[in-house]
Amino acid sequence: MYDVIIVGAGPAGLFAAKEIVEKSKLKVLILDMGRDVDKRKCHMSEFKSCTECSPCNIMCGVGGAGTLSSGLLNLRPDIGGNLHEFVNDEKDAWNLIDHVHKTFLKYGAPKKLYRPTKKEVDALQRKAAAVGVKFIPIPQLHIGSDNAPAVIKKFKADLERKGVKFKVNERVTSIDCEEVTLKNSSKIPSKYILVAPGRSGANWLASEAKRLGIPTRYQPIDIGVRVEVPAVVMDPVIKISQDPKFHIYPDTYDDFVRTFCVNHRGFVVQEVYDDFIGVNGHAMAKKKTDNTNFALLVKIELTEPLEDTTVFGRTLATQVTTLGGGKPLIQRLGDLKSGHRSTWDRLKRGNVTRTLMSVTPGDISMALPHRIVTDIIEALDKLNYVMPGVSSPSTLIYAPEIKFSANRVIINKQFETSCENLFVAGDGAGLSNGLVIAAATGILAAKGILSKEGVEVKT
Ligand SMILES: Cc1cc2nc3c(=O)[nH]c(=O)nc-3n(C[C@H](O)[C@H](O)[C@H](O)COP(=O)(O)OP(=O)(O)OC[C@H]3O[C@@H](n4cnc5c(N)ncnc54)[C@H](O)[C@@H]3O)c2cc1C
Repeated sequence: MYDVIIVGAGPAGLFAAKEIVEKSKLKVLILDMGRDVDKRKCHMSEFKSCTECSPCNIMCGVGGAGTLSSGLLNLRPDIGGNLHEFVNDEKDAWNLIDHVHKTFLKYGAPKKLYRPTKKEVDALQRKAAAVGVKFIPIPQLHIGSDNAPAVIKKFKADLERKGVKFKVNERVTSIDCEEVTLKNSSKIPSKYILVAPGRSGANWLASEAKRLGIPTRYQPIDIGVRVEVPAVVMDPVIKISQDPKFHIYPDTYDDFVRTFCVNHRGFVVQEVYDDFIGVNGHAMAKKKTDNTNFALLVKIELTEPLEDTTVFGRTLATQVTTLGGGKPLIQRLGDLKSGHRSTWDRLKRGNVTRTLMSVTPGDISMALPHRIVTDIIEALDKLNYVMPGVSSPSTLIYAPEIKFSANRVIINKQFETSCENLFVAGDGAGLSNGLVIAAATGILAAKGILSKEGVEVKT
């Protein structure tokens, strides 16, 4: 008999298990539908955005979705989620970030921290502020795709030494307040259940929550484009931050627009969904290009009659794919601004050579709403003051780029759902969007469990 069953061996599940076994004698079992860390072999080029585990296991297995990625730790409480929602004050939020950081270091993450100097941050913030753009400085630690599996392996071995049991290739098909049911219909009882299934289990968790009568709510979605420019345009800013984050409120609609996932000298890549082809970006350690790409995303929040942002996002993305004949659309910014469809000929006249080959030159304004297109054009014009050249007529725009958010499971301050002794954490419950905050919510959910056991816990 276990005291705690954790569904999901991603950062949320691993950090929760660590907190529980280090602070109590509770018996912990972690179940994951993916493979063990050294059985996961995958390439970014195989990355399929999916609700199920892809054959290459990029989303699933011990270590979770980030293990085979570049493992960039954004060490701020408001990036990749918002810890301030869950803790008492600023100090508690930063203490948690520090705790996650130190834990990754303990298991072998590189010590080198990318942190811009105050002088650099001040200069960039001053330039950005002149056009109402906010630059967000973030201390970052790059675990690296080569190191990440070793770090997770050490993490797992330490948990096992402390008594945590792991069962991999075990899909949980249903959860109840006192037991979980596996794919082979066997049931495992437990006093507490912590569900941390990440993106790959988000739809499943949402449907289980519905079945159990646990309230959830839809969250905003990010819809936009991937922008590709000559690397030299962004070199000065990249020297200050590897993945510079800018927040912009364009004049016409005053929507929230942000830069995300900057790939310096990287590639634009396809992201294959069930019903549309999106775009994403990645950078390789050895193979470099002459371009830099980044996502430019507009936050969309919906109220009645359609609150389901996922349905809305999929509808738009499918429309773009339909217009592109089954491929993402590509357009020169100059053509988008002047209302022309881009053609192969027009693309050749620009000074940016595309890095994604499988695209259709087209007119993004035929596929995305006027509001989103206006936001994108105005945001790029503002960014042009910070990074001159970014809104040149030759800049390439790819669509659709889309970031879905899991439904937010409603929890109390202890991370317990309305079903007693059933806790949630991480991306799958809509509580985080990145490695560090997912890990932090795992710790907080563990503290919730410990507090029910009468174990005194400090944040
Ligand atoms: C390719 C890629 C690159 C990324 N790069 C970064 C990055 O550099 N920096 C960053 O901050 N974030 C990055 N992220 C996001 C980051 O990986 C996630 O935010 C983080 O892993 C979420 O942690 P989690 O524990 O909530 O869920 P996950 O890490 O997704 O782990 C959930 C686990 O639950 C398991 N599971 C799901 N459903 C079930 C079920 N029914 N039964 C049993 N097991 C189940 C899954 O197999 C999975 O292993 C990346 C994501 C991807 C896909």
